[in-house]
Amino acid sequence: MPNPLSPGWRRRLPVPTALAAATAVMLLVSPATATTPVAPPADTGPIAGEQADVVQVLLDGTAELDALVATGVDLDHHVERTESGVVAHAVVTPSEARRLAAAGFTLGEVLYRPADARARVAERDATIAEHAAENREFAAAAADPTAPDVSDVKIIRADYYTSGTSQILSVEAKWAQGQTAANTLTVERDSGPGTAIGSGGTQTISRFVDAGVYLYHRGAATVTSRPEYVRITSPTGDVAVAKVREWLPTPETSPEGPGYQKDFVTSYLTPTELYARIHELAAQFPDLAEIVELPYKTNGYRRHAQAVLGTANASRVAVDSLAWGHEGGNGISVELVNPGAGNAALGVSVSGTHIRVNLATDGAGTVTSTAAQVVAALNSGAGSLVRAYTYRGSTGTGVVAPAARTQLTDDLSAPATVSRDPHPVYAIRIGKHRDGSKPGVLAYAQEHAREWVPPLVTIETAERLLRNYGHDGRTRQLLNNLDIWIAPSINPDGGHYSFYDFNSQRKNMTNHCPLTGAADFLGRDSWGVDNNRNYTEYSLFDGYSGASSSCTSGTYAGPSELSEPENRNLDWLASRPNIKFSMNLHSSGNYFMWSPGAYALPDRTSAPRPTLAQESFFWGASSRILTAIKQHRNMAVTPARTGPISDVLYSAAGNSGDMLWYKYGIYAWNFEVGTSFQPDWEEAHAETMEFSNGLVELMRVARDFDTDRQRPTSTLAVAPSSTAGMVNVTFDVSEPASVFYTLDGAAPTYESTLYGSAGVREGGETLTVPVGTTVNWFAVDAAGNVEKNYRPDGNGKNYRKGTAVLPTS
Ligand SMILES: [Zn+2]
Repeated sequence: MPNPLSPGWRRRLPVPTALAAATAVMLLVSPATATTPVAPPADTGPIAGEQADVVQVLLDGTAELDALVATGVDLDHHVERTESGVVAHAVVTPSEARRLAAAGFTLGEVLYRPADARARVAERDATIAEHAAENREFAAAAADPTAPDVSDVKIIRADYYTSGTSQILSVEAKWAQGQTAANTLTVERDSGPGTAIGSGGTQTISRFVDAGVYLYHRGAATVTSRPEYVRITSPTGDVAVAKVREWLPTPETSPEGPGYQKDFVTSYLTPTELYARIHELAAQFPDLAEIVELPYKTNGYRRHAQAVLGTANASRVAVDSLAWGHEGGNGISVELVNPGAGNAALGVSVSGTHIRVNLATDGAGTVTSTAAQVVAALNSGAGSLVRAYTYRGSTGTGVVAPAARTQLTDDLSAPATVSRDPHPVYAIRIGKHRDGSKPGVLAYAQEHAREWVPPLVTIETAERLLRNYGHDGRTRQLLNNLDIWIAPSINPDGGHYSFYDFNSQRKNMTNHCPLTGAADFLGRDSWGVDNNRNYTEYSLFDGYSGASSSCTSGTYAGPSELSEPENRNLDWLASRPNIKFSMNLHSSGNYFMWSPGAYALPDRTSAPRPTLAQESFFWGASSRILTAIKQHRNMAVTPARTGPISDVLYSAAGNSGDMLWYKYGIYAWNFEVGTSFQPDWEEAHAETMEFSNGLVELMRVARDFDTDRQRPTSTLAVAPSSTAGMVNVTFDVSEPASVFYTLDGAAPTYESTLYGSAGVREGGETLTVPVGTTVNWFAVDAAGNVEKNYRPDGNGKNYRKGTAVLPTS
């Protein structure tokens, strides 16, 4: 039996006829004979220059899913259980897809192509350009002395509303110099109809900048009377006046008070922009937030300049600059020259940064230098500029072909505004008391570079917390009592690479491939460590499944646990002793998950399960968080996609959620946001809003957990049904809590049916059951308090019992 954890080993499983028949409309690849092991592919990673697609892989069950994971293929986070088997999504280049097919895996539809990512970037660029153009037009109009009545400041909206006993005025205004000048604007208020401007006091509003482009000024403040008019005098002396409107109250059922401000992102943000954004926020709210630079810088968005000369492997010569590309490597060039004469000797000459190799010839003038000889000559003659080596472990016995002058390149396309140096990684720490005395909550995103929406969820959440503090009592409760850490991009190098070079980049950019492996220019898109497989608990190194030791695999676990600075940063964050809750934000698939996240093959030996009490907390809190998500546009994360990672997705050895839970005892959740890595902006925006709802709700869960010792109580209500012989049954609970029930007389457990998880605030679902049905149930709240102290393990007796009969009147 081969070791299932060794690189390249794969299990061959027959693809059953039933699955093949069910999927006959899709591209079908004939499986090889089921019992014949297939030789592992020489190279599991993408070939540089090839972009990747997201492709369905049709599997007959979880065993074949395990086999797919064991190949080290790059999977996104979508695993769907269907009637005919399991559908996973692989991120593969065309040549990787061919290798999977050759190994007997059945590929389905191509769901996402590189052109889709290019369209997203183009859309983002167009949005930013549009905002910039609007700013220029406004500035030009305001500066035009012939234009009548044009002010350089314009009030967009002024909204008055009440929140509890508070009165709030929210103002948005655009200033023509807002792109370049950092000034806040001062809003003067009257104190009601017929009163003087200024008599109601003043408030300041600050710049709202997104993706480096100024949008407008915004801000809200508490007022003591309802103003009728507000006035803004810009720093240049121009004036704008607007009438105040009454803002519609938000529904009673919303956890967000009236006038709660949200919607703070308008386009995708690169890691550079994400960090700039949290720096601006911390500068604007110095009493409530600070920036923390995490202890480890990344290895940097940088590479050595490289080239591979030649086409046949045995005669290829790989050349790398010693200097980083941006530090001189990109200026180096190499040429292999046929001297055009007989009996020439092999020689190397260096002129500045140009390296000329004069190839050896025989008496007839035919080139005779082999790749190995050219490599040796380059290393001795130009070893101060470059390092040469034969291609991927070849002995280099092939005679090289002459090559025209070839420029070495790091092939990095980001503008110079993206640093090539080892990059600091930043978190914003939010709370009134940031001294470790309050329960800590950690949210972090972009372990996986190509997941562009999750970082926006963290930014939106940070903005909501800070910008609602001044006027929303419930937000103030959170910030006064929690210590919130938000790290929008754990993997900025990979993130930049994903935006500017290779949209499908998942890992960091560190090259751990040996010179005999894929370290050369053609391997560059497959380098990197999967930052969500490099942690310390239940890892590849501990024998767990779902990570690879191949440096080119999509799930490469790295050379050792915590080998990567990105991972050491998260370990440092998690080791803050007051952190009790965390959210690891990924995309996509609309999942909501917790530990265990890994098992060991062949018997699926799982990392330990949480206790029932812990599980009850995970479920109770999850129902609240998922309800908040659903409130945005009624998108429900289904129960089938809620639960332990290894149950609802696949084994992921060495993932961060498991480290936080098992090593630090943090209640650690994982979001899989949305439908794809880089959806169109309309969808990305909606996902940002809904999952930010969920992340803010996690803060409320953390706050309530700290204070809640109260057990929920529940009641069963029975009402007539329009169907003969049936009645309608609903549950009512005393506080936000989940109800698990049975209808067959069995004792209810956490495996029992979960009563509509949105049921608390919106009124629960109605169950139509036969008259006389036995209903057994219990309620559990988000802090893990179970009704009547029942132990929901199937052995307890103290659950609630009822019968579905109409009450007698
Ligand atoms: Zn991910």
